[in-house]
Amino acid sequence: MISNNVVMIARFPVRVTSPDELAAHISSCIGASKKSILFFANTNFIVKCRLLVERFSNENIVIVNDGLGMDIACMLLHGRKFRSNLNGTDFMPYFFMQSKQKLRVFLLGGQPATLNGAAYYLTHTLGHEVAGTCDGYDGLNNGSSLVDTINDSRADVVLVALGNAQQEEWILANSEQINAKFFAGVGGLFDFWSGDKPRAPKWMQNIRMEWFYRLCLEPKRLYKRYTLDALKFLVSCIKYRKPSIKS
Ligand code: UDP
Repeated sequence: MISNNVVMIARFPVRVTSPDELAAHISSCIGASKKSILFFANTNFIVKCRLLVERFSNENIVIVNDGLGMDIACMLLHGRKFRSNLNGTDFMPYFFMQSKQKLRVFLLGGQPATLNGAAYYLTHTLGHEVAGTCDGYDGLNNGSSLVDTINDSRADVVLVALGNAQQEEWILANSEQINAKFFAGVGGLFDFWSGDKPRAPKWMQNIRMEWFYRLCLEPKRLYKRYTLDALKFLVSCIKYRKPSIKS
């Protein structure tokens, strides 16, 4: 069973858990046909989703900590560390690898060509089935009912890669009408699965500097995220530093 231990970071209840506990929780929800929703909270999530914060208080939703900024905030605000670093890029493959059930997965988001590569990876490397795909640009905006398409696809899982906060808004708005049992907001995951974007070398991941590698690759797009938005994150943490810990 997943721990109920939650740390409040800028009004978001962030679950203190581990990859195996989280994977077991999701698998058991899918097995019991109970809906679950997973969000990976990094500093960008906290800043971009701040206006949606009240909508995250739902027992089906699990928010986990992603990245160095969240660890620093937890240490400064609560004097403790998270149990693990849970980012979507590492956790989602782990989840699919350990799943005993072959899952039907709908991939929403990313560029059309990226989606083809991600679908190939899901099938051939992770051993699951692609129930359907919809890109996050023309596909998402073409007016047809995506909810019906996903329901017709009989997907068990919907992965949404539209960036913060578009992916969170989409899941919060649509997951109730969709019969799939597990939803996750996965950011740039399909870019990594397709090989369109490289992961940082292992040593950089180990010293928690993957964010710097991504910044060097895409300085124009990510500069604001790691300067102004990082500052906004700090301000939010300080402003909403109470209450501290619920368990
Ligand atoms: N994306 C999309 N539609 C949009 C904006 C973004 O499908 O309107 C996709 C984009 O192609 C990328 C993903 O959303 O695959 C999110 O990428 P980002 O690098 O911002 O995610 P993060 O840094 O949060 O992991």
